Amino acid sequence: MSKIYYCVDCKRVGTNSDVCLYCNGTYLKPITQGTSVNIIGTKKKEKF
Ligand SMILES: [Zn+2]
Repeated sequence: MSKIYYCVDCKRVGTNSDVCLYCNGTYLKPITQGTSVNIIGTKKKEKF
């Protein structure tokens, strides 16, 4: 199972652990399964 990473800068999630695919930020936090995060643009909580 691949990990999911949350970009602190643009508040999006992706599977790349090195750099954010959206803003090229490098401050990524791993998300553990079951964590709810707000995804910008969707206005809903996604559960992983
Ligand atoms: Zn980002």
